[in-house]
Amino acid sequence: MSGQVPEMLYLDGEFMPLTEGRVGVEDRGFQLGDGVYEVVRIAGGKLIWLDDHLDRLRWSLGEIRMVGALRDHVLGVVIPRLLQLSGVGEGTVYVQVTRGAAPRDFPFPPETRATVLAYTRPLEPSPVDAILAGVTVHPVDDIRWARCDIKSTNLLGAVLAKQTARDAGAQEALFVGAGRVVREGGSSNVFAVFGGEVWTHPADARILNGITRRHIVELAAGLGIAVVEREFTLEELEAAEECFLTSTSRDVMPVVGVGGRPLAGGRPGPVTLALTDALRAEIARLAGLPAPALLRRA
Ligand code: PMP
Repeated sequence: MSGQVPEMLYLDGEFMPLTEGRVGVEDRGFQLGDGVYEVVRIAGGKLIWLDDHLDRLRWSLGEIRMVGALRDHVLGVVIPRLLQLSGVGEGTVYVQVTRGAAPRDFPFPPETRATVLAYTRPLEPSPVDAILAGVTVHPVDDIRWARCDIKSTNLLGAVLAKQTARDAGAQEALFVGAGRVVREGGSSNVFAVFGGEVWTHPADARILNGITRRHIVELAAGLGIAVVEREFTLEELEAAEECFLTSTSRDVMPVVGVGGRPLAGGRPGPVTLALTDALRAEIARLAGLPAPALLRRA
């Protein structure tokens, strides 16, 4: 099909190339970070776990008292249409809803119309070599607000943390809260293996309950791998048998170093690779793609 634009935008009822999108200066998303968002994975030209993402978006909107914001925007139709118009096979859809434009003031304006947008972006999945090489993480104090379960566009805590990690030569920040508890990554959830059991932070207000995290928990159950939702400290993590991160755009990323020191022998472990394989196979199945080669060595 001709005329497809990989970076295609839906903005308040209209479709256009991303570069043509304009939002008002007094949009509360821009001035106050008064909005929520989602990132949905595209694989094999299909939307992966779209319903999960739309459910979480509606939940986030409820938590910031924006029930009904999507009334005039049927995202379950808009997003597949965006995909057609863009022709993207591998990539993401970014979806954002803000409390709209109004004279700058903190409380909700008497009348608002939400600004609703979504756009596609091509992104190749991580190559096998990169997955097997793993990533390193850099611990930072978790200075974020106390409602990290809401997928808010207020991301300054993550921006600063991820830059600090990059400056330290690491690929991801590791948020460490009170009592040295490991919360999550800068934009990912954290899992660690202790005594063959997989531990991850409980899905409370201190972390974002990732869609990938939820599916990893399910897939682990199917493989007979025990997952326990419980806190662990940075010191415990440093002695973990294995560690990995999960997110929509990067699937599973084995962690091979923390704070400049190797973790778990500096290479991805068997539980991590089994779960990476299971997630990659499940995404390929949903995408209608051939099953990917297994990473787990016999
Ligand atoms: N935690 C945080 C803080 C994130 O920003 C993200 C990704 N947006 C995640 C976890 C992973 O969530 P998901 O698997 O839904 O992408």
